[in-house]
Amino acid sequence: MAAAAIAEQRVVGRFAPSPTGPLHAGSLVAALASWLDARARRGRWLLRIEDVDTPRCVPGMDAVILAQLAGCGLHPDGPVWYQSRRGDAYAAALQRLAGAGLAYPCDCTRREIDDALAARGIAHARFAERVYPGICRPRADGGGGPRGRPRRAWRLRADGIVHWADRRLGAQVQDVAAEVGDFVLRRADGVWAYQLAVVVDDAAQGITDVVRGADLADNTARQILLQRALGLPTPRYLHTPLVRGADGQKLSKQNGAAPLDLARPVAALQAAAAVLGLPPIDAPAPATWLMRALPAWAGMIAALGNP
Ligand code: GLU
Repeated sequence: MAAAAIAEQRVVGRFAPSPTGPLHAGSLVAALASWLDARARRGRWLLRIEDVDTPRCVPGMDAVILAQLAGCGLHPDGPVWYQSRRGDAYAAALQRLAGAGLAYPCDCTRREIDDALAARGIAHARFAERVYPGICRPRADGGGGPRGRPRRAWRLRADGIVHWADRRLGAQVQDVAAEVGDFVLRRADGVWAYQLAVVVDDAAQGITDVVRGADLADNTARQILLQRALGLPTPRYLHTPLVRGADGQKLSKQNGAAPLDLARPVAALQAAAAVLGLPPIDAPAPATWLMRALPAWAGMIAALGNP
């Protein structure tokens, strides 16, 4: 009965680029995989522009990304969502969490966080995430809490070990309290954190399957904690292999990855498919290429044994 209900649930996938630069060979892997995964099960594929972190967003880049996707035959099944227009929904979610005592304001400076960590003998490695030491977390004895500075971030009380299953990577576990600590939902400068925006929007768009790059896998436990705190469903997750540059680093806009070559979209799709472990597909144009790739994706997913 439950299995039948799951089988009948309409699959909804999504691709959620940040408009900080044009799509490159690495981002096409996630776009293609999410499209194939939704369409192979007759599902819908949605597009969401993740433009919450406005200082990093490049004006007009959303249109560039949409054109790149269209050039590869990837067309969303519905209006494109913009996170910059979703502030009210994020505010409502934060209010619910705060009302339930699950989120609290924090006015720590980075320096104070580093000092508190250093006092515990934890040096902060450059570029590594700081495990928040809980300075502003309200305590049962009435202690904790912010010091009354006007600029405050909001953090989630992150308690618990999260177990989850990735459809490609298998069983995963993260002790969020120990590895991340109470994480930010809204920054002190008012910018909504990726974790909150993604969780609220995945639920609002009815996403059943999140397919994205493996660099985001270690955000999943935080997102599941947030879903639970907000009473939202947890989608299935599949994290795709990363494309690495000549330096061995993940290909990214930051390390200057070349934008997709739209003069040769089939070759771009073919390269992305190879990263996903799909066999070469012969087709003259993106639309035919995509149709022919669907059974190959379905076969590969079935072989993973975690459909
Ligand atoms: N906006 C994120 C990025 O471009 C992806 C978010 C997600 O797929 O959850 O890296």
